Amino acid sequence: MNPPRTALVVGAGIAGLSTAYHLARRGVEVTVLEAEHVGAGASHGNAGWVDPVQTGPLPEPGLLRDGLRHMRSAESATHIALRDYPRLMPWLVSFARHATADRYRDGTLALAELGTRCFPLLDQLAADGVEFARDDSGLLAVARDVRAVETFIRAREPFRTAGFAISRTVLDADALRAREPALSEQVRYGVELRDHVQIDPGAFLAALAAHLRSQGVRIEEGNAVAGVAEPGPRAGVAMRDDRRYADVVVVATGASTALIGKRFPLVGGRGYSFDVPFATAVRRSILLLDAHIALSPIGGRLRIAAGMDFGPSARLSAERLAPIARNAAVMLDGIDWTDRQHLWSGRRPLTPDGLPIVDRLPGHPGTYLLTGLSMLGMTLAAPAAEALTGYILDGIRPPVLTPFRADRFR
Ligand SMILES: Cc1cc2nc3c(=O)[nH]c(=O)nc-3n(C[C@H](O)[C@H](O)[C@H](O)COP(=O)(O)OP(=O)(O)OC[C@H]3O[C@@H](n4cnc5c(N)ncnc54)[C@H](O)[C@@H]3O)c2cc1C
Repeated sequence: MNPPRTALVVGAGIAGLSTAYHLARRGVEVTVLEAEHVGAGASHGNAGWVDPVQTGPLPEPGLLRDGLRHMRSAESATHIALRDYPRLMPWLVSFARHATADRYRDGTLALAELGTRCFPLLDQLAADGVEFARDDSGLLAVARDVRAVETFIRAREPFRTAGFAISRTVLDADALRAREPALSEQVRYGVELRDHVQIDPGAFLAALAAHLRSQGVRIEEGNAVAGVAEPGPRAGVAMRDDRRYADVVVVATGASTALIGKRFPLVGGRGYSFDVPFATAVRRSILLLDAHIALSPIGGRLRIAAGMDFGPSARLSAERLAPIARNAAVMLDGIDWTDRQHLWSGRRPLTPDGLPIVDRLPGHPGTYLLTGLSMLGMTLAAPAAEALTGYILDGIRPPVLTPFRADRFR
């Protein structure tokens, strides 16, 4: 069979644009179909961490128990409205089944292996002329209680197995404030991770889209796809009024399940962010372990990103942002919390095992899926897209994609 020469990519988030980039780089003529605009989903206002080691799969042992215990509290990082439970229950049950130590370890290893390509691919983008700023100062993961830091360090073991050099040194308050003077006296312990790059996700996505256009990739914004075409001699999608065909279709629609229907257990995990000015400069990314809050210096401000809310009732609101600001405020000095800008929310695409789906769509030759990137889309979209492109063009599934098969949910 001849290798594919044309492709339709559905979705212009980081997954879709990364796929378009890798396919186009290997000579495929690519058109991206986007319902709204580039970055309309989760890929715009997130924390912008390219960091393959700061988190494993979401179903961590004990997470559900702790999450449910705190869920009714306004301060909780996670919320589910009571009326959304019936709809979410099958997914939550499956999620709970995956939250075992063995599965967590295997899932972490699978993500870590994919993650080894994220930094070389960032370098490749820059060498190809994608214009974006990056900061390599690293990440501080900090807490009030030393146990939180020790637990975080222990949970990084699978990443060490995968070859990442991760510090086991617990830093004390003085060492932390020497690095980041804006940390308040509440911050007592922390650890520094070096395998971390901070980008501005919105600017990064815009630069990638501009580069793709300059390479002849068509990005059609405001062009929603209604469905995947029935299996036939060519892959295709149904638009509102007609059908579009190509040698290959890649569905990269994030947390939206409209195109893949009920075939996959995918839900959205809504998170929030806003940007505030700082009096004392924050130089590097910071993870507040107690409150699950990411702090990112972006565009001369500090981005506060947090929250993992499930169900259609989850919304961006002043009430939802207030506890996030409160929990961050005690850990930082010199922030003007009243001057919040760029209020944003987006839905992470989540599978119950916390791993992405990067595979052929079963029953649809020529149609592929890249979704479920969860909390790591800015980090893993490029490696996943590179491997998927190899699979599409060479016809052989790269071993790194085995854990991300679509048929694992049958
Ligand atoms: C608060 C927060 C902080 C985060 N921080 C980080 C971080 O620091 N590092 C990291 O690696 N990850 C982070 N993430 C996760 C990351 O944002 C996601 O994993 C990633 O953005 C998912 O990308 P995606 O392309 O799969 O989906 P999306 O970005 O949601 O893109 C999907 C696109 O498909 C389009 N679409 C949907 N349906 C259709 C249709 N029918 N037809 C055409 N187009 C359609 C949508 O409009 C959208 O543009 C964070 C997420 C949140 C919420």
